[in-house]
Order: sequence, then structure tokens, then C-alpha cells
Amino acid sequence: MKNSAGGATGLDQLAPLLVVSGPSGVGKSTVVAQALGLSPKLWLSVSATTRAPREGEVDGVSYSFVSDSEFVQMVESGHMLEWAQYAGNKYGTPSAPVQARREAGVPVILEIEVQGARQVRESAPDATLVFIAPPSIGELDARLRGRGTESTDALSARLEIAHEELAAMPEFDHVLVNADVRATAMALLDLCIDP
Ligand code: 5GP
Repeated sequence: MKNSAGGATGLDQLAPLLVVSGPSGVGKSTVVAQALGLSPKLWLSVSATTRAPREGEVDGVSYSFVSDSEFVQMVESGHMLEWAQYAGNKYGTPSAPVQARREAGVPVILEIEVQGARQVRESAPDATLVFIAPPSIGELDARLRGRGTESTDALSARLEIAHEELAAMPEFDHVLVNADVRATAMALLDLCIDP
């Protein structure tokens, strides 16, 4: 592919971009952590969020924890690849680090919710969209309730969103049913790492 100046755009040399989505409580983070452990070559994007840190979360590692105005500034200055409002907070993927890794040949994973995945589909059509599904809806509810990280109100909001998110499954390139974390992580790696 050529750009208007006649040079190579490098688009066809970008390392894979894998978008991992699915309802809250499905085990996305655990699956992604396992995949990263199995393949250190992968890089997981660090999202920015206006949500307050949970116990044990480290700024700049789990998320970049920012104020609402800082977040809006990042969006308005065009620095977000995608962003979404989720259960009362904003979450987004800073684009520059993703692009830099991909240009350097490092496959990138985004672990994001469904509205963000839709935006990536538009802005990076070469991305592979993966939906992590629960073995059953009953199991998803039980996992969300059992996690104990949310207040009652936040939990109800997340349960409601989780049910809506399940309806988006057919929009994805691949659906992986998370019955076994290791098997799901290996299936994920198969989608972005050359053997
Ligand atoms: P949590 O508050 O449980 O860490 O995340 C809530 C939801 O936001 C999860 O579904 C998570 O995958 C999603 N999320 C995390 N980072 C991002 C992001 O950068 N963009 C979008 N669109 N969603 C994100």
C-alpha cells in the first residue's frame, strides 16, 4: 500500500491488534493475564479511566487513573483510539502506545468493553475482535456477585450491562467460551501469535 507521497505506509507490516471484549465478570482479565504469561511477546494496552482505583490496583499498571477533565482533554485532543462510558465512569485506550508497539512488531491486546470494540472496528479495520463468553448466563451472574468488588448499586448496573453486552456477541470475529482459563488463553494466542 502507498501513501499520497508514494511511500509505503507500513500498514501491512503492523503487528496484530487483538480486541478482547465480553461482559464484566466473564473472566476477560484472567484469560488475558494467562495469555500474557504464556507469551511474553504480547503487550497489553494500559487504559485510562476515571474510575477510582480498587485495592491493589497500581496507577500506570492496572490503569492510568485520571480525573474527568484530564480524560475529556485526552479525547478532545484526539489521543484516544476509542473510549466509552461504562457504569458511570469513562474508560479509553490511548492510541500512541498501541501504534508504537504495533509498528515495532509487538502484537497488542486491548481488553475493553463492547462499545469500545465497535469503535476499534471502525478506526482499525485490521483488528481481530474476540468475544469472551460465559459458559452460561447463570454462571456469569454468580461470578459477578461472587467477586465482591462492587457496591450493591454498582453490581446491579454491571449485571444489567453484562446482559446487554451478551447480545453483541454476533458482531465479533471470534467467540471463545471461557469454561477453562488456560484453554481460552491458548485459543486467544492462536489468534495473534504465529506458531
Ligand atoms: P473495570 O471497572 O471492571 O476495571 O472495567 C469495566 C469495563 O471497562 C470492563 O468491561 C473493561 O474491559 C472495560 N474497559 C477497560 N479499559 C477500557 C478501555 O480502555 N476502553 C473501553 N471501551 N473499555 C475498557
